[in-house]
Amino acid sequence: MTNKKKPHFLLVVGLMITAACLCFTGCNSKNIAEYQGTFHALDTIAGMTLYSDTLTEKELAEAASSAEDLCRELENVFSSRLSGSSLYLLNGDAKEGPVKVREDLFYVIKSALEYAHLTDGAFDPTLLDIIEEWGIGTADPHVPEASFTESHKALRNYSNVTLDDEEASVSFDTANFRLDLGAIAKGYICDRMKELLVSEYGIESGLINMGGNVLTIGDNMKKGRPWNVGIADPHDPSSSIISLNVTDKSLVTSGTYQRYFQEDGHIYHHILDPFTAYPADTGLLSVSILTGGSMDADALSTGVFVLGPEKGLKLIEELEDTECILITEDGEFLFSKGAKKYLSDQVTP
Ligand code: AMP
Ligand code: MG
Repeated sequence: MTNKKKPHFLLVVGLMITAACLCFTGCNSKNIAEYQGTFHALDTIAGMTLYSDTLTEKELAEAASSAEDLCRELENVFSSRLSGSSLYLLNGDAKEGPVKVREDLFYVIKSALEYAHLTDGAFDPTLLDIIEEWGIGTADPHVPEASFTESHKALRNYSNVTLDDEEASVSFDTANFRLDLGAIAKGYICDRMKELLVSEYGIESGLINMGGNVLTIGDNMKKGRPWNVGIADPHDPSSSIISLNVTDKSLVTSGTYQRYFQEDGHIYHHILDPFTAYPADTGLLSVSILTGGSMDADALSTGVFVLGPEKGLKLIEELEDTECILITEDGEFLFSKGAKKYLSDQVTP
């Protein structure tokens, strides 16, 4: 009897071991495909990390490649410098009368004007002439003549941009300005890349990093927790001074260290105050905004930088689901009321 039972017992044990092995390899939720890559676009090194427990590495790479193509396509729409871009052509023609534009360009211009109103002109998408005169980030940056800054400051030209929603057309009421969307378009492009990755490829975990613009998809699937996103140390931008737990949100930073030149011991950075036509001087080194959409975070990071700590924090407290962290020249950290709950213990100030 015992001898007869033995093979049966061994068979059952064998089947159990095989089932356990199959489950280990086949149903293992830790079996996560990964994509990590960088590319050059929008004057910065862009990085993408994608994880999936349903897609293969090849499929993730295809998704990343499509997102990169979309980024380049949109750069050719929104760049004010690339001759032939949709914005470049609009800047040439809109002073003659209404120009019909692509739906996405119309949407971003409309949003930029809304942020100009919201920040009472601290964020202003009509500064291209002033930006070009300073040339910050080009091979030939310089302090403009006083006569130039005097005649260009506080023009508040954003109220001279007329939009026709029905026609999706844009016209400039005066001929003395051109649009620059450098403070908002990068965020919009990140949003579009995320939308593509999520809706066309079903990606549930990812991070897009475009210089100071970070946009996350879901949580960090590989680590099983929120993404850990750092805010750069303005004095040593290659390292983080704070990091935040970020799930499905964007963290965008505008800082003096991102683009600047030095003359006679003075630092001139790229975030301009429309009321002086000079780099904004509000005692801040950086402004980081945490919110759902990257376009909103991008516009607000620039606007709050120019508004300064007092008015900037007040504005952020009025907005839903939006937080900010400001770093001052005195080395202080200013948090909006809900910002501290996102602090990660990985790097603390
Ligand atoms: P960001 O890095 O997002 O703060 O955007 C800065 C870029 O936006 C600059 O390089 C300019 O192209 C443009 N810019 C500078 N000052 C302003 C401003 N006050 N409002 C809107 N755009 C600006
Ligand atoms: Mg911005």
